[in-house]
Order: sequence, then C-alpha cells, then structure tokens
Amino acid sequence: MDCIFCKIIQGKIPSVKVYEDDNVFAFMDINPIGTGHTLVVPKTHAEDIFEISEQDAIEVLRAVRILSTAIKKGVQADGINILQLNGKAAGQVVPHLHVHIIPRWFDDGITISHWPMKAGDMDKIKEVAEKIKVEL
Ligand code: AMP
Ligand code: ZN
Repeated sequence: MDCIFCKIIQGKIPSVKVYEDDNVFAFMDINPIGTGHTLVVPKTHAEDIFEISEQDAIEVLRAVRILSTAIKKGVQADGINILQLNGKAAGQVVPHLHVHIIPRWFDDGITISHWPMKAGDMDKIKEVAEKIKVEL
C-alpha cells in the first residue's frame, strides 16, 4: 500500500519523531499551523474513524492525552486544540487516520476554533438526534 504515514512509521520516509509505543507513532507536522503542531497515528493502517479498531482508537487517545500534556509544557502553550479529519469533505488529505495536536496561545491568530455562534432550531436539532440514535 502506498501510504505516506505507513512509510514514516516504517522509517522509509524521515520524520521528526516525538513518541512511539507498540501501537502508536507521533511526529511533528511539516506544515505546522503553529509551534509544536504534532500528529499522532495508529501503527496499523486505518484510513479514518470509520475504519480504526476500537482498541487502536483507545491507544491513540491514550497517546494523545500523554502528548498533549508534554507538548503544553514543552512549548508553554496556553491551551491545546485536538483535531481529527475524516473524509475529503472534512478536509482530510492523508488517508491514514491522524490526530492533530495544536498548541494555542491567547491572541495567536489561529482561526480553527472560531465559528459563528447562531442559535439552532430546537425541533430540527431533536429530529436530527433521533436520526442518529436509531443508528446506534
Ligand atoms: P489532514 O489530512 O488534512 O488532516 O492533514 C494532513 C497533515 O499531514 C498536514 O497537516 C500535513 O502538513 C501533514 N503531513 C503531510 N506529509 C507529512 C510528512 N511527510 N511529515 C509530517 N507531516 C506531514
Ligand atoms: Zn497508512
């Protein structure tokens, strides 16, 4: 399979690694949104949240928690965004599941966490909730 993140995990493509365990690999994003932008990936290839196993999802989140604390301290961030994109419509470019850990500072100018707040139609919100619940 021609997957760039699998190649990084296997050491066939260089990366700036910050963490590795049996199931998870983490490395610095080469196009950082800001200082300390880090990617966390499962070692077993899974394209997205729909494909990853429950156990690997747990392992990835375990690593994300540990790394978030280390990154926040390491770069003395005021906060952290955790972002994970699924599918082209959601902006996913690399089809190997990855969690972005993005350090944040007050007034850092990064806009990913700001969307216009507009009160929703409660009837519509409840109708959508029912559509979700029947799929569980
Ligand atoms: P996305 O699929 O949109 O969630 O983002 C893919 C991310 O992978 C981008 O932030 C890229 O900068 C990053 N990226 C792509 N190739 C590499 C690489 N070889 N090393 C590190 N980061 C990469
Ligand atoms: Zn892969």
